[in-house]
Amino acid sequence: MKRVLTALAAAFCSSAAGACAQEPEPPAPPKIEALAPAPDPNDPAVLKRRADFAEAMRQVDKRQLVFNASSEDVSLEGALTQGGLVFGKTLAGAKVRLDGEDVMVGDDGRFVIGFGRDAAPSSLLAVTLPDGKIERVALKIAARDFPVQRIDGLPESEVSKFSKADLEKIAEDKKLKDAARESSENKEDWRSGFEMPARGVISGVYGSQRILNGQPKSPHSGIDIAAPTGTPIRAPADGVVTLAEPDMYFEGGLVLIDHGFWVESALMHMSKVEVKAGERVKKGQEIGRIGQTGRATGPHTHWSVKWMGIPVDPQLLVQDGPGAGAPVAAGAGEKGAQ
Ligand SMILES: [Zn+2]
Repeated sequence: MKRVLTALAAAFCSSAAGACAQEPEPPAPPKIEALAPAPDPNDPAVLKRRADFAEAMRQVDKRQLVFNASSEDVSLEGALTQGGLVFGKTLAGAKVRLDGEDVMVGDDGRFVIGFGRDAAPSSLLAVTLPDGKIERVALKIAARDFPVQRIDGLPESEVSKFSKADLEKIAEDKKLKDAARESSENKEDWRSGFEMPARGVISGVYGSQRILNGQPKSPHSGIDIAAPTGTPIRAPADGVVTLAEPDMYFEGGLVLIDHGFWVESALMHMSKVEVKAGERVKKGQEIGRIGQTGRATGPHTHWSVKWMGIPVDPQLLVQDGPGAGAPVAAGAGEKGAQ
């Protein structure tokens, strides 16, 4: 069955070497039989809905004017964009929240925040300083265009149908990954900076999406680096190995590395895994070899980076990560007006 699935997956993947589809697909959305009629512009309900929307937009504008674009006590570097990871520093002992969610802060006041592929245009960073004062910084998140490929007229396939044994293996794999992801070290391994884990051709980029017969598939969560089987794969940054498995259903040979502060790398499809769970690794250290294991259409490794479980763009990290010397551009936040 697995061989059949791989073959079918190959039929749907781009002809470029090493494309992959490592994540299970979401369930198909319900089919819409007919389009709703256009709203009547004079209908009181439509008028009220539009007035409410305009008022909500004014409130959003007001909220952004209240908060400054920057704070003397908070510095940020990295990519304030969809798929970007941003590295911050504030006073030791401060607490940080992003859009209402607690963020891990080191003893020295350093922290990491991330933005997914479909992140909203603005986010609110709230920093409670040791003296109790709260600094609020409005962050403007730049939008990006991601490649979307539509393929229609494909025969209805068996690609998303799994045998009972496949489903059991997928569930077992998930347990292993969940256990590996239960915690993250309060250790700033991510400060080593990031580099490409293998030499090869980028055959798949972050955020790209296929729409097959009108059904959107999961966006690509990382990058694919295609290279001959046996090519070394190296740790993209310092960290601790939390999972090292040779035969996962989707990922094949998989290594998960915790870089601290909920920043995690996953390296997939390895022909050989050369580290063990619990092992500490340094940036550039060999951890395995390129392969075609799991759901892969050619020899490559898929490298994904997640922050708090949200996939971010590894290529941005290599360009703008810690130590790359790229401070967040002035004007990246909303202008403070008061
Ligand atoms: Zn991939």
